[in-house]
Amino acid sequence: MTRILINGGTVVTAAETMRADVLIEGEKVIALLGAGAPEVADADVIDASGKLVFPGSVDAHTHMEIPFGAATSKDTFETGTRAAAWGGTTTIIDFPIQMKGDSLIGSFEETMAKAVGNSAIDFGLHQIVGDVNEQSLAELDVVFKEGVTSYKLFTAYPGVYYSTDAELMKVMQWASSNGSTILMHAENGSAIDLLREQAIARGDTAPLYHALTRPAEMEGEAAHRTILLAELTGAPLYIVHISAKQVVEEIAAARARGSNVFGETCPQYLFLELSLLDQGFEGAKYVCSPPLRDPADGHQDALWRALANNDLQVVATDHCPFDFEGQKTLGRGDFTKIPNGLPVVEHRFPLLIHAALADNRFSLNRMVDIASTTPAKMYGIYPQKGTIAVGSDADIAIVDPAATDTVSAATHHMNVDYSCFESMDLTGRIETVLSRGRVLIADGQYHGRPDHGRYLKRGLNQLVR
Ligand SMILES: [Zn+2]
Repeated sequence: MTRILINGGTVVTAAETMRADVLIEGEKVIALLGAGAPEVADADVIDASGKLVFPGSVDAHTHMEIPFGAATSKDTFETGTRAAAWGGTTTIIDFPIQMKGDSLIGSFEETMAKAVGNSAIDFGLHQIVGDVNEQSLAELDVVFKEGVTSYKLFTAYPGVYYSTDAELMKVMQWASSNGSTILMHAENGSAIDLLREQAIARGDTAPLYHALTRPAEMEGEAAHRTILLAELTGAPLYIVHISAKQVVEEIAAARARGSNVFGETCPQYLFLELSLLDQGFEGAKYVCSPPLRDPADGHQDALWRALANNDLQVVATDHCPFDFEGQKTLGRGDFTKIPNGLPVVEHRFPLLIHAALADNRFSLNRMVDIASTTPAKMYGIYPQKGTIAVGSDADIAIVDPAATDTVSAATHHMNVDYSCFESMDLTGRIETVLSRGRVLIADGQYHGRPDHGRYLKRGLNQLVR
């Protein structure tokens, strides 16, 4: 079996920072060697002197090649997972989408067919339940046996993915019976649809109105309601892509009550803001749901604070890229036709490293927790993923903390024609990335293969109290 020694670096996990060499055999870490350890012979050496050695990061929320209105998100599993690897992400959790009238099992099989053999890194799947009925409720048990332990529901998008409160409760009751976690897209879709219709009728058709018709209060309302439903049923609840301080407050209150309620935010809500939508149709590049918020209202501050103090637990991407030309432009003259979603999977981990190293938002250990360890525990793949420890998969990102990288669509690896973080200078450059002991990125080159990544059958949420 091939042995690799990562030599001379500083290993950073959620728990500690230590000078140690990492010895890998085959796909696993087999030793962490401190000062005075015996020499290792017969290993390929990766020199990590002066570098930080992190667990490969876990992006718990991506959408490769999914339909949204008239468009399909541009990254396939092949291009999206390759881009993720460039950014030090070695696991993603993506979503089969059951649409109205679809079979749930059918959507799972369809996504497996797209992903297996086409992923550079390991992947798990959450199931979107878009049509709650007798058949899909029965099919949940089948998908659960395939290692899908988390199910996404929507209070947004009436007529597409939306569930009524009774439908939400039916799936929550099922989840409560076996310990599955419910993911919630929390926005009041019916009230938002009214505001959207009224804006278009007034002639307010520019991208900015996408954001103005999805007020933070409507995110807070849906979070409040679905938290209470989850508490009633006993299902663990994880609210996805939080943009609003109102939701942070709801989650903090629920956690203070001892409830199994968790929250995720995304780099776009931390680093980008509402004014980016207010630049004519260029603003379409920043259309996602929930929308970017105005920092003057305190949303970004609340999100950063909540990440530091564990009121929020995870940063994922909601990666769902659409080209500006030909896809976002479908909504010229009508913001409701702009496909929702942003390209983020490659830059989440670098942005979080920058937030720790340059902006002192949190410690490097807390950064690893948010980026890798907690998502791995939340979705039942820890300690195989999410840390560097004896017996863990050798998923590793080696970073030069003294180097900087400039984000640009001209150099990124996502299959999309713009970057929403264009020209940002990020402290800390990801230099070498390994997945299960295989070098994917080294010396500025990609060495991976689309059939390297494996499907992860996941266990239950390890953070449930
Ligand atoms: Zn999503």
